[in-house]
Amino acid sequence: MNRTEEETFRPEETFALAKRLAEQAKGGEVYCLDGDLGVGKTVFAQGFGAGLGIEEPMASPTFTILREYHSGRLALFHFDVYRIGSEDEMEEIGFYEMAGSPDGVALIEWSSLIAGILPENAIHVTIEKDPEKGFDYRRIVIEDPWCSI
Ligand code: ADP
Ligand code: MG
Repeated sequence: MNRTEEETFRPEETFALAKRLAEQAKGGEVYCLDGDLGVGKTVFAQGFGAGLGIEEPMASPTFTILREYHSGRLALFHFDVYRIGSEDEMEEIGFYEMAGSPDGVALIEWSSLIAGILPENAIHVTIEKDPEKGFDYRRIVIEDPWCSI
């Protein structure tokens, strides 16, 4: 288990951090993104997409649960499970085929809502604010059971 703690002071820095992380992805990884509403999970996801070379704009999949992107180096399965009714719904969406697919990576916003079905080797990214450190400050903790970042 490798634990890294990063600090960002602007959305662009969170984007850049996620981009660097994506550039190291090999395929098959599941990234779990957690943190309060408006903390920067979608900013992170967009940076991640850029790091895979995805060209189309990435909207938040809040209302669709899943958006897929196939224009990058690896496929990206971007989930936002905020509105998921139950873990069973993830099976219907095809979560198990997508998570762990060697030609793609899965990124799951609000992953704690489906904690019971996350793979053991998932990489956990937690984003937090700290009001004492300013409005745009974020602490980003990355816990990676695969390798060092
Ligand atoms: P979430 O998906 O977690 O609900 P979003 O990514 O949609 O959040 O929104 C995050 C908001 O916070 C954006 O408006 C972004 O510009 C802003 N923001 C300010 N500072 C940061 C930072 N350091 N990292 C990421 N986002 C930031
Ligand atoms: Mg979001």
